[in-house]
Amino acid sequence: MIKALYLHIPFCSYKCPYCDFLSLVDAPLDHEEYVNLLIEESRLYSHYERDIRTLYLGGGTPTLLKPDTLAYLIDGLDKVLDLSGVVEITVECNPETYTTEDFRKLRRLGVNRLSIGAQSFTEKGLRSLGRKHSVSDTVRAYHEAREAGFENINLDIMYAYPEQESQDLEVELEWIEKLRPEHVSAYMLTPYPNTPIGVEISRGALKVPEEDELSRIYNSLWTGLKELGYSRYEISNWSLEGFECKHNLVYWNMEEFLGLGVSAWGFIGRTRYGNTKNILKYAEFVRKGIRPVDKSVRLSERDLFEEFVILRLRLKEGLPKSFKHVVPSHLLRFFEEGERGIGIREEYMLLSNEIIAEVLVYNSDRTLSEVKNG
Ligand code: SF4
Repeated sequence: MIKALYLHIPFCSYKCPYCDFLSLVDAPLDHEEYVNLLIEESRLYSHYERDIRTLYLGGGTPTLLKPDTLAYLIDGLDKVLDLSGVVEITVECNPETYTTEDFRKLRRLGVNRLSIGAQSFTEKGLRSLGRKHSVSDTVRAYHEAREAGFENINLDIMYAYPEQESQDLEVELEWIEKLRPEHVSAYMLTPYPNTPIGVEISRGALKVPEEDELSRIYNSLWTGLKELGYSRYEISNWSLEGFECKHNLVYWNMEEFLGLGVSAWGFIGRTRYGNTKNILKYAEFVRKGIRPVDKSVRLSERDLFEEFVILRLRLKEGLPKSFKHVVPSHLLRFFEEGERGIGIREEYMLLSNEIIAEVLVYNSDRTLSEVKNG
C-alpha cells in the first residue's frame, strides 16, 4: 500500500558546489511542461493500491515554481491519485525565492510544512558552501513564512564544511534558539568526488575539520539542540515534540512510497526503483506512456533484513525489542533500550556506520522474515 508521494522538482537558479542532487540551472523544459509530465507520470501508477498520507516536494528548488503552478500540480495529482487523506505537505524552499504573499498562497494550497535550506547562520559558512543567499535572507524568509501562517518549519543546517570550527556552532545554535523552528535537519557535508567542493578537498585546496574538531562540532550540535528542547529522532533530524517529519518516517519505516519526476526514487511492493536522471529521456518516456525508470531492484529476503537494520538504526527508537539478539554482545555498550526498541546511544551516533556494519556482519545469514517470525 503506497503511503507517501515524493515529487522531484529539478530546477535551481544556481548550482551549489557541494550538490550531488539532480538539479538543473538551464533546464531544457519549462516549469509548466515539467509539471504536466509529473501529472502524466502519476497516471502510470493510478492502479496501485494507495492511502497517501504525505506529500513532499523536494529538489532542486521547488519554490522556483510559482504558487499557481504548484496549485495546478497538486490539483492535477489529486484528480489522478486522490490526495484527500494527506495530512502533511512539505515544500523545500530556498531563502531567496518566496515572499510573504507566495507563502500565503502555499498555505491556502494546503501546504503545512516548510523546509528552508538555511545551511548556515554564519556568512562564513554560506560562503564556504557557495550559497548565494545571506543570513538575513534566511531570517526574512523564516519570519515571512511565519507571518503567512506556517506553524511547522524545518531548517536545514550543514556542518563539517571547509574551515568550520566548533565555535561556529554557537552561532547556529543561537539562531535556532531565537527562531525556534519545529524541526532541524543537520547534515554533515559529504564531499562527493563529482562535485567542485569534493575535488578541492581531495586535492587539499580546501580543508574540512579534522577528526578531533569534527567530534567537537558534532558534540556541540547534539548537546546544544538537546538543551534547546529538541529531541533527536533520527541520525540527522531533531524536532520539538510531535513535529517529526511524517513523510521521512515512511522511508525509515520501510513503508511504500511513490516517487515521481526526473531522478526520483520510489519503493513499491518489494521493489526500489529509480527514474532516469536525464530530463529529456524522462520527458520522452512519460510522453509515450512508459515509466521513466532506469533502475529497479526487487529486494531479496536478505536485502530486506539489511535495509531494515540500516534504516531502523538511524532512528532513535532503533530496532524492535524482539530484534535485540541481532546486536552482538560486544556492541551492547553502544546501545540503549527504550520503551519501543533498542537503538544506538546518541553519543555514539557519529560511529553509527561502523556499528551498523558490524551488526550486519554478525548476522550475515539472517533474513527479515526469519527474525520477525522468531
Ligand atoms: S539549491 Fe539545493 S538542489 Fe539546488 S544546487 Fe543548491 S543544494 Fe543542490
